[in-house]
Amino acid sequence: MDFLTIAEIFEDMQKTRSRLILIDHLVILFKTTPVNIIKQVIYLLQGKLSLAYEGVELGLGEKLTIKAIAESSGRSVKEVEDKYGIVGDLGETAKEIAKFKYQKTLLSEQITVERVFLTFEKIAKSTGSLSQIIKLRLVSSLLNDATPLESKYIIKFLLGTLRLGIAEYSIIDALSIASTGNKINRKKIEETYNVYTDLGTIAEILFKKNLEGLNELQITPLKPIRPMLAERITDPTEALKKTNGAIACEFKLDGERVQIHKDGSEIQLFSRSLEKITNHYPDIVEVIKKYQIHKCILEAEIVSFDLESKKIQPFQELMHRKRKHNINDVLLKYPVKVFLFDILYLEGDNLTKYEYTKRRKILESIVSENKHNTIALVNQIVSSKLNQIENFFRKAKEAGCEGLMLKQLDSKYRAGAREFLWMKLKKEYDNRIGDSLDLTVIGALLGKGKRTGYYGALLLAVYDKNSDTFQSVCKVGTGFSDRDLELIYNELKNYVVEEKYYNVNSSMKMDIWFNPKLVLEIRASEITISPSHTAAYGIIRKNFGLALRFPKYSRKIRFDKKPEDSTTSSELIELYKRQVKQNKF
Ligand code: AMP
Repeated sequence: MDFLTIAEIFEDMQKTRSRLILIDHLVILFKTTPVNIIKQVIYLLQGKLSLAYEGVELGLGEKLTIKAIAESSGRSVKEVEDKYGIVGDLGETAKEIAKFKYQKTLLSEQITVERVFLTFEKIAKSTGSLSQIIKLRLVSSLLNDATPLESKYIIKFLLGTLRLGIAEYSIIDALSIASTGNKINRKKIEETYNVYTDLGTIAEILFKKNLEGLNELQITPLKPIRPMLAERITDPTEALKKTNGAIACEFKLDGERVQIHKDGSEIQLFSRSLEKITNHYPDIVEVIKKYQIHKCILEAEIVSFDLESKKIQPFQELMHRKRKHNINDVLLKYPVKVFLFDILYLEGDNLTKYEYTKRRKILESIVSENKHNTIALVNQIVSSKLNQIENFFRKAKEAGCEGLMLKQLDSKYRAGAREFLWMKLKKEYDNRIGDSLDLTVIGALLGKGKRTGYYGALLLAVYDKNSDTFQSVCKVGTGFSDRDLELIYNELKNYVVEEKYYNVNSSMKMDIWFNPKLVLEIRASEITISPSHTAAYGIIRKNFGLALRFPKYSRKIRFDKKPEDSTTSSELIELYKRQVKQNKF
């Protein structure tokens, strides 16, 4: 398959603002892709060389890329840098420079997708003292034979700036249409994806076999599964109403959710968004290694923990563990504790099909076998009495927790689902919204006075699943320390785009727009009807959206959440309705 075909489809995709048209492009792409490379094409769409959690890195910096563009075009590095200064994007720079070269030379060799991938793999594998030279040669030889458009996408991919912004939902829709002729089968594909999060392999099976072939993809250690999520409630009576009797109440710890996978001596840890985070917690890996279990998948919340006072520390302390290098330097200074709350797989048995009570019993039997103080079971009671639950909630708060997770005793583990089988009851149930919101940054106003050089206010959005767009819901300018302003500025500068991003829906006037990537936790006093924000537009009132009143940054960057995991417009509507109901009493 010619790489040009893909480059042209990418170019069309970048121009479109409609999710339906985007899916049409994807369907055409999947239908024209030979089955032997469909896996790679899917990863390419996701901006990765292989599975996201495999963490294969190309390790190509801007400097080396500029050199490669210069070498392949016969220009000087200075010329390329100057052009980059004007164009502002290295992919576009490569395209512009290649245009000139392209008119003068005849192509020596047609570029195929296979060749591009092979080169990318060689780049990823080259390490050691000569690696920079080898990488340079590999990139420039590829650029030598590339058309201008191909050059653009090769460079964008290598630098990790491809950002096609294709949500998994869209890929699943398109796979369903392309492989079965019908969108209705997306359900089965999504169910498989929930427990086997590798869209490349799923696509390969769909095209090599058929929909039924997906049955062979089962929950497997070392392959992360999509986490089960909770609905929010603002009062424990709501939870009791949903059950016939008792409910399990667990401390809701404020840390990082982690899936712990063990397969023999191999241990891997995955975050909530299924990134590999094993390197952040080598101390935990060592403890798990000693477990007398061969294969298992456990779920837990990791919190920062003070060994002397035996107290849970604030969420921010975990940031010290997010290092790429020299993690051993911080292990003792910032100890952590793991609180296990679920078990999904044990020695060949898929436990997700069992009810909560059975899973908890199995979990208890494992932890009591392995008494070690860095790993413990999450505190839990089973109760049907409101006053007991309220007491437990108070205890959780005193212990530094966010609140409680309330789980139905007969609930199976529903990967990827957010239902009332699990409910979260947070501390803020004394304010009217009852919860903080996780919102994605879509725009900013430049800072003035003390904030010159940083952003003064950020425009935040909820995610609308149906239209796959980010809808503005508030501007926030309070709650930031000087350090936060700097940190957020440095994060956001990677996502600046020239104009409003194609999947951003906002009528606000902003100085800067972003590719929606960064998720922040926000608290607000209430949800109001708004003439200027587009969240849940027209649903509660014609020509009006919803907005947050007195929003405040609650000092948490949700690195563990993808933008599509932000609070959704439907959740916002639910919160609004609940607020209205409360006001009536
Ligand atoms: P939220 O991030 O507010 O949607 O709340 C859900 C998160 O709470 C989960 O993703 C976990 O990271 C965290 N959590 C803390 N304690 C528990 C628990 N006992 N059971 C399940 N999730 C928990």
